[in-house]
Parts: sequence; structure tokens; C-alpha cells
Amino acid sequence: MTWSIRWKVMLGTLVAVVCGLLIAGVMTIQALERQRLAQLGEVLEAKTKLVEYGFQPLFGKEHSSLLPAQLQETARDLGTRAVARVTLIATDGAILADSAVQGAELAVIEDHKARPEIDQAFSTGQGRDIRSSHTTGERTMYRAVLMKTAQETSPLVLRVGIPMVMLDHELSEVRQHLFLALGVAFLITLSLSVWLAHSITKPLSDIASAARQLGSGNQALHIRTTAQDEVGLLASTLNHMVDQLHAKIDELSEDRTQLLAVLTSMVEGVMVLDYRGHVLQVNPALERMFGISRIDARGRPCTELFRHQRLNELVAFILQSPAHHQDEIVLPLTGRCLQIEASPAGGKGENEACVVLVFHDITELRRLEKIRTDFVANVSHELRTPLTSIKGYVEALLDGAKDDPVASKNFLDIILKQSDRLDLIIEDLLELSKIESGRVSLKEEPLELQALVERTLSMVKPMADKKRHHLVTAIMPLLPPVAGDEDRLAQVLSNLLDNAIKYTPAGGTITVSAAWASSSRISERPATAIDLSVADTGIGIPEQDRPRVFERFYRVDKARSRELGGTGLGLAIVKHIVEGHGGHVWVEANHPQGSRFVVRLPLGDKALSSASTTEAGKICRLTS
Ligand code: ADP
Repeated sequence: MTWSIRWKVMLGTLVAVVCGLLIAGVMTIQALERQRLAQLGEVLEAKTKLVEYGFQPLFGKEHSSLLPAQLQETARDLGTRAVARVTLIATDGAILADSAVQGAELAVIEDHKARPEIDQAFSTGQGRDIRSSHTTGERTMYRAVLMKTAQETSPLVLRVGIPMVMLDHELSEVRQHLFLALGVAFLITLSLSVWLAHSITKPLSDIASAARQLGSGNQALHIRTTAQDEVGLLASTLNHMVDQLHAKIDELSEDRTQLLAVLTSMVEGVMVLDYRGHVLQVNPALERMFGISRIDARGRPCTELFRHQRLNELVAFILQSPAHHQDEIVLPLTGRCLQIEASPAGGKGENEACVVLVFHDITELRRLEKIRTDFVANVSHELRTPLTSIKGYVEALLDGAKDDPVASKNFLDIILKQSDRLDLIIEDLLELSKIESGRVSLKEEPLELQALVERTLSMVKPMADKKRHHLVTAIMPLLPPVAGDEDRLAQVLSNLLDNAIKYTPAGGTITVSAAWASSSRISERPATAIDLSVADTGIGIPEQDRPRVFERFYRVDKARSRELGGTGLGLAIVKHIVEGHGGHVWVEANHPQGSRFVVRLPLGDKALSSASTTEAGKICRLTS
């Protein structure tokens, strides 16, 4: 059983006070009794002397002449006067006279020799005792003295007894008063101890209840007490502690918020593991990378969560030998390439960070690296082909062909053609590099597509005529002007027309069209762009090659392209110029034969508003 402080204080005070009062009471009674007995003893001694004196005249005579009746009478007389019991005892213990009994009864009184005071008197001359009388039944104080008589040989003992009724009565009264006082003191002590216990424990229980509320999250709580004592000191210390605790909690939660903000805004995925390899924390970037949810991930073993052998091996390795490690993995589902930086965090407990893994998505980096290496390889290859050819023919000329006028003309023609090709490749490469690096600033001037198409067609017409191609234009009337760089867009159109002429067998049809962009391709919203397209009836592009023809040096048929004088860079230049205008370009099959390249150019707000004011514009929109 546990006792509350209130009960401990109350009962402790009560017990201490009651014990003190009882001890003081008992000691007081004992001291009083001792004092009263001493006084009574003195009175008894005086009375004994007086009674002895009263008997002296009788004992001056011969012993034999003493009559028992006379002795009895004197004893009764002296007893009455002294207000005491007077007894004369012979040497053999027989009672000679006793003031407390009638003369006739003396004979039946038992022998008194064995009484302590009588025995003491016979042996030492005087004796004393306090006890209840056998004869009177009262508690009595006895004093016995050996009396000197004329007959020295048979002394007598005079015993005087004073009943202690008065003293006993007095003492019992004192006891009663004392017990009454004790009772009153007990009641006062009880109320005082209750008050004391309450005044001590009330502030303490207030503090305890405040501490409980604090524990259950009531942070605004402040312990209020008017006490100036130790309890007040305790309360103010607690309040100070609470303030410090709040400050610490605020600081921690601020740190936590900042940490969360950093983790949340990070592009890199972060995962924290404990010493067993169980997930403690993952950030949103990691959730996105692996398609997992933080709630599911927390507490689960990393091996079970990801099931990626390389990653699991890395985790197992760093858990065994805590040091910085780096690795790269490829996710099987998405094909994303992740670089992992694993660092030990030092935690050894269940919820302590032991390993921190940071995942960088380097897919784009790797792609660009691949493009760069492919590009270098492609450029070298593209340059080497004409160079090898030039070198071969120059060697042949040096070896003697120069002496044959027909062969040397032939060889020199080929060398010239290959040099032109080299020149073309380098020109295209420089052009592409200029556009890619952003060194070419595209103008934004309003362009009438009709004029642009006509200008470009006139440039390629001689080439088309050579192959007896039929050139057709289908420009929708009243199209708004597009904002763009005229020369660059002419270059786009020229590259597309050049390809169409090249890859269409003689006698084909090449159609250049311009119309409102078909909104259904992107959304159901009204068209906000214009599609400029070049369609031919040529060899076409297989579906799987269509997305790749815009890559540098990508050709569907390498031999044919080279034979036709292609550099493999024309469409890459087209793509960059179109994207520089905020548009995009794609290729699709032209029915029933050939390819159709579409350049979608967005219209600025100005062009759109001017278009919407014209009736034709409205009709075009409705029909597109
Ligand atoms: P090239 O200089 O080789 O023509 P391009 O970048 O202009 O290089 O074109 C890339 C490849 O796309 C060409 O090699 C060719 O295989 C294919 N291609 C381009 N235009 C057409 C077209 N109109 N018809 C068929 N194939 C085409």
C-alpha cells in the first residue's frame, strides 16, 4: 500500500503529538503520585509519633497489669483522634489492639507477623508498606515502629495506617483531567495536522497535476502558486524548466521543419536506414523514383522493399564496413540510371540513422554522355569517309593515273565532289553547333507563310525540275502571320523540300501546305498554332525510324543518303530551329505513299487576337 504525503504528514504529526502528550501525562501523574506519597508518608510519620506518644503512659506500667480492653480503648481513641487505623502487635504477631475492629473481633484477626511493615519493624525498628488492608479492604499506607516498653524482652510493634482513598481519588481526578486535556489536545492536533497536511500537499498536488497536464501535451500551462517556501521555489523551478523545454521543443521543431523542407525540396532521393537495414526515412523524390509510399516504406527492411540485387548488396556492404561508398544502378522497370552515394551516419540503436543513401538520377547525364560519344564517333566516321576517298584518289593519281587525262579528270571530279561533301558536313556541323549553343538569336518578326513558301519553292524549283517533280502548294487563305525568323524558317522549309526531292523517285509530287493546327492532336481546345507541312510521294520512312530521323547523323539508308549527298544533319538542324521558335516537328506516313513532315508553329497572343477578328479566321477555327 502506498500512502499519500497528506496521510503521511497527518498521521506522523498525530502520532508524534499523541505519543508526546501520553508520555508527558504519564510522567506528570507519576511525579504527582510520588510527591503526594512523600507528603502522606511525612503525615503518617508525624501521626505515628503522636500515637506512640499517646501509648507511652500505658507502657510505663508493668506489662502484666495492662488490660487488653484498656489497650483496645486507647487504640480506638488515638485512631479516632489521628484519623488513622492504630494497631498494636505482640512479638508473636498477635493483635493486641486495633482501632478498626471491635474488641471481641480481635481474637479472629489473623497473625500479622508476616506483614512486610511488621516484619521490617521487628528486624530494623521501623517498617513501611502500601497495600490493600485484609481487614478493612481499603488501600492503606502503613508505618510500623518498635515500641520501647518497660519489659525489654517482649517488644511490641505499633502500626499506624492511613487509608489512601483521598489520595487515590485525587490522583484519579488528575488522571481524568489529564485524559480530557489529552482528548482536547488530540482534537486540536488532528485539526492542525489536517490543515498542515493540506497546506503542504495542496501546492504539491497542484504541481503534480500541472506536471501531468504538461506531460499530456498542454504546453501553455504555467504553474501558479502564492507559496514563498520550498514549494514555491519548486514551482518556479518547474516553470523555468517548462519554459526551457518549450524553447528547446520550438528549436527542435524549427530544425525539423527546415530539415523536412530540405528533404522535400531535394531533387535527389534520400533514404535513411537503421543498423539492421530497416527504412527510417525516405523523401518525396525517392518515393517518385521507386514508386513507393513513405508510410509503407517506414520500418520495412530495405531488401524487402526494393528487391534490387545491386542496391541490396551495397546496403549489406556498408552496414558491414561503415565507410563512404558509391555505386550506380539501373531500375529495371523505368530504365532510369541512379547514382548512389552511401554514407555511414554512426547510429547503433533501433531508431537511429546508421546509413544515409542519396540517389542522383543521372539518366539524362548518361544520355547526354552517350550522345556526345556517339556524336564524336559519327563525326569522325562522316569525315573519314570522304577523306579516305580523297586520299585514295590522290594516291592513285600519284601512282600514275595523273598521266591518263581521262582517268585523272574522273578522279579529280570525285575528289572535288568529296571535298564539297566535307565542306557541306563541316558547314552543317558548324550551323548545328551555332544553333545548339544559342549563339544564333532568332528574330521574331511577323511572317506571311504564303510568301515564305513561295520564296523557298523558287529556290528548290530547279532541283525539282531536274527530277520532274510536281510541286504543289495548299496554303489556307487569310492565315495570320507567324512570329519568327524568316531566314531560319526558310532554311527549315528548304531542308525538308531538299529531302523530299532527294528521297522521291523522279516524277513525284511534293505538296507544301499551311493550315490551322489540328487541335485534336493535343487537346480539344481551339487551335493556337499553324501546321506547315511538306508531303511527298517518295520512299517513305519505316515507322520505327520516324522518331530517330531528327537525331544527328541518323539515316534510314546510309548508302542512299551519301549517294544523294546527304550529311545526316539536315533534320537535326530543322528540329533545333523549330524548337527555337517554340514549336515542334514530327514525321508521319503520307497516304498512300511517302512521308509527311509537319512543323507546328505556335501563334503569339497578338496573332491570335488579330485572327479572331477576321471572319475567315473564325471559319478556319471552326473547321480545323
Ligand atoms: P540527309 O542529309 O541524310 O538527308 P537528314 O537529316 O536530312 O539527312 O535526314 C535524315 C534521314 O532521314 C535521311 O538519311 C533519310 O534516311 C531520312 N529522310 C529524310 N527525309 C526523307 C524523306 N522525305 N523521305 C524519306 N526519307 C527521308
